[in-house]
Amino acid sequence: MSDNPIMGMKEQQRRRARINRLKKTIIWTIVLWMLLSLIAIVILGLTCFSLNKRLNNIYDFLTSASGNVAKVESSIIDESFEGETLEEGDVTIEYNIDGVSADEKKLVYLTFDDGPSSNTDDILDILDKYGVRATFFVVGKTDEFSQEMYERIYEDGHTLGLHSYSHKYSSIYSSVESFEKDMNKLDSQLYEITGQHAKFIRFPGGSSNSVSSVDMKEFIEWSTEQGYVYFDWNVVSGDATSVHYTVDELISNVIDGVHKHDISVVLMHDATNKTSTVEALPKIIEQLQAEGYTLLSIDENTQYIQHVSVDTVVND
Ligand code: ZN
Repeated sequence: MSDNPIMGMKEQQRRRARINRLKKTIIWTIVLWMLLSLIAIVILGLTCFSLNKRLNNIYDFLTSASGNVAKVESSIIDESFEGETLEEGDVTIEYNIDGVSADEKKLVYLTFDDGPSSNTDDILDILDKYGVRATFFVVGKTDEFSQEMYERIYEDGHTLGLHSYSHKYSSIYSSVESFEKDMNKLDSQLYEITGQHAKFIRFPGGSSNSVSSVDMKEFIEWSTEQGYVYFDWNVVSGDATSVHYTVDELISNVIDGVHKHDISVVLMHDATNKTSTVEALPKIIEQLQAEGYTLLSIDENTQYIQHVSVDTVVND
């Protein structure tokens, strides 16, 4: 019996020690858990940031080349133009545009966006070889080669149009003032080279783009007030889509598209990575010419091909 109090004390000490160990374990578990949570929060936050950035890049990529938007919407665009362009139907309709008879009036306007690029010279050589005039909606570049390309486009008799100096949607479409500044900068640059003010505009993303936070009508109004005519497109080659079309596919995209219209404005791109466009171009021209189409550059007589018709925005 004399051992009992000592045994009891020892037992109590052991229990205390066990409780203390348990307490420490619990505290350390909580601390560790909090630490891990904190690390997880930081990692998730960083991942979120990086994913957001990548998403923005993808978005920029998709929208920086106007054709992408176009391709997605091309079927809608084609349909929406059914009533506006002079569609081929079962009935032969006799109509005239500037005295050109119906038979001769199958017109194709090849347009190249986003240049000048390392492909511009080749594109111009091909156009020259086939005696074809086209339209280049250019962006602002300051290097010597690009200056030569602007000049050659103009000297070769093609139409030099404005596609915006920066081609940055976020800045050009942030306000009419910003758009005006950007377009004036490009026009001044081209004026220095050609001595001519541009007459035609292609809105980056087209007049129907859903990227601009400001209503496109405001930019259309400004452009019209300045005397610019804007052109969208009703045929896309697909050279700016994320789908990498083969040369043959680019050709058939254009040819099939052109077959649906009597007057086609074809969207293509003059960009360094678009070498397939350069490869496809001779065959596109050969086939269209063989089928009796006339290839022209956009001028004052060109029938408007606009996704958002200027008439719905500006009432004279
Ligand atoms: Zn573009």
